[in-house]
Parts: sequence; C-alpha cells; structure tokens
Amino acid sequence: RELGLLMDKLLSQAPARLARNNQSVTAEELRDAITRNELFNEYQPVVSLVDGELASLEVLVRWQHPDKGRVMPDQFIYLAEEQGLIDDLTRWVIAEALQQSLRWQKAGIHCALSVNLSMENLEQLSFTDWLLKALEDADLKPWDLILEITESRPMRRPEIVLDNLTRLRLKGFKLAVDDFGTGHASLAQIRDIPFDQFKLDRSFVHAAGKERRIRVMFESAMGLAKELGLEITAEGVEDEEDWHFLRQHDCHKAQGYFIARPLGADKVGDWLNHWGG
Ligand code: C2E
Ligand code: CA
Ligand code: CA
Ligand code: CA
Repeated sequence: RELGLLMDKLLSQAPARLARNNQSVTAEELRDAITRNELFNEYQPVVSLVDGELASLEVLVRWQHPDKGRVMPDQFIYLAEEQGLIDDLTRWVIAEALQQSLRWQKAGIHCALSVNLSMENLEQLSFTDWLLKALEDADLKPWDLILEITESRPMRRPEIVLDNLTRLRLKGFKLAVDDFGTGHASLAQIRDIPFDQFKLDRSFVHAAGKERRIRVMFESAMGLAKELGLEITAEGVEDEEDWHFLRQHDCHKAQGYFIARPLGADKVGDWLNHWGG
C-alpha cells in the first residue's frame, strides 16, 4: 500500500507529456478539448446472452484532435486522471450521454447506459449529488445507469469512495467491477463494496473456449460470480465460438466486435434494426 502511494505520487509529478503512445497529447490540449467540444462519445451495445436483447450501451469517449486525428481513451484518460481533469471530463461524458439518451427516448429507443468512472470521480464528495441531479434532468432512473469502476490503483480516499458507492447503490444505481481479473484488488473490492455485477476483461474472454489456461481463469471467475449472486458481462466477444462458449457457461451478457463495434450515436438505431429485427 505504501509503495502504491509512492508510485502514485511519482506518477502525479511526472511531466504532463509522459507519453504512453506515439501521439503524445498534452494536458493543456486536453483541457482545451473539453471546453472546445472536441470530445465525443461512442456507444457499444451489451446484449443478453439469454435472449439476445440489448441490455445496455457502454459509453466510450473519444477525442477528435484538430491535428492529430482521433485519439483513443487509452491515450488520454490517464492524463486526465493525473492532471486533475477527469472530473470535468467525466461530467462532460455523462451529460452528453444523458442528452443522447433523451434523443433516443424520443425515437422510441429505451436503453440503460453503462458509464466508466475513475477512482478520482468517486473521491469527490459531491459526485453522487451531481449524478442524481443530472439524471433527473434526463428522465432516467438510477437503475438505468450502470457505473463501471476499475480499481487501477490503490484508493487515496477510501472512506469517501465507500461513502459514494454505498449511497449510489442505495439510490438504485447498478455497480459493476470493470476489467475484473486485471485490477489492483478485485477481491478486496467485492468484499467491501456492494457491487452487483462483474465485467470480465477481454483477456479472459476471447479464446476462453480455445485455450485451457484462459478457460480455467474464466471458469473460476464465473464460479465466484455465481456464488456471490453477481451478473457477469463478458467483454471482447470477437467470434461465434466465443459467443457459444459463453452461452454454454451461463454467462449473462456479452459485448464485443462479434456483436457490434462502438458506434456513433446516429448508428445505434440502424444496428438495433439489423440486430433485433
Ligand atoms: P473498457 O472499459 O474495458 O472498455 C472496453 C474497451 O474494449 C473499449 O476500448 C472497446 O472499444 C474495446 N472493445 C470492445 N469490444 C472489443 C472486442 O471485441 N475486441 C477488442 N480487442 N476490443 C474491444 P476503448 O473504447 O479504446 O476504451 C479503452 C478504455 O478507456 C476503456 O476500457 C475504459 O477503461 C476507458 N474509457 C473509455 N471511455 C471512458 C470514460 O468516459 N471515462 C473513463 N474514466 N474511462 C473511459
Ligand atoms: Ca468499461
Ligand atoms: Ca475500464
Ligand atoms: Ca476491459
């Protein structure tokens, strides 16, 4: 834990340019991107493995950089987290998704949204109240939102995180452990926090039917979820074999290129017609 905090400290002091990619973007550019509306959301369908119905749409942010083209979240979320921009970013992403949901509702599309939260968001005491207020304005109920949470580092303010998560759960939001199997402390997380679902990282999903080692890890995660009464969503369902394997193993929901890529908001209706008939 001490070491984790030290790493955190070092990371947060690293220069903003700290490049994990060859497209290095800066914190200043990102700050401007948020105010200049260069961000946009894509939506990836999550479907029920029981009846194929659309279960939710995961909101995935992208950045249309004026010179560098499309920048993916893996290349700027960590920067937003390190540079104190994640609060604005998350609020932008959620507000935009809620507005989009209103447009869909008018077009007859009713669907839950899955949104990704960073630990930093939950370390803000005001987050829960902000979210409740935002929902009210969008005619959605807390159970129409699945909050996906990755523990990518130790919590800095665990009391506040627990406080937020407990309040969110009591209000009726659904809470999912994201990237289950890859996080820092997945087991500690599910011990202390009232999660109701897991998202199994794609590294445990694609090829689970083909490779024994992956299958063993997949099955043990499924067993744990079953014992705890949690729902499982499998990420990274890339082919028909993955799909059948998951169905045979009583997995609940699936997401991946086999079903749909992340879609622009205007493509979701077409996909639904094509998928659901
Ligand atoms: P994630 O939460 O694990 O989201 C799933 C990622 O897997 C997405 O990558 C998605 O495009 C990709 N994916 C989906 N199906 C498949 C598949 O079948 N095969 C493969 N190879 N990949 C698939 P993306 O959009 O690049 O997002 C990367 C990560 O960035 C997300 O991982 C999430 O942790 C983070 N992220 C995205 N949007 C947000 C956001 O608004 N806020 C925060 N805090 N994080 C976000
Ligand atoms: Ca996610
Ligand atoms: Ca994640
Ligand atoms: Ca993942």
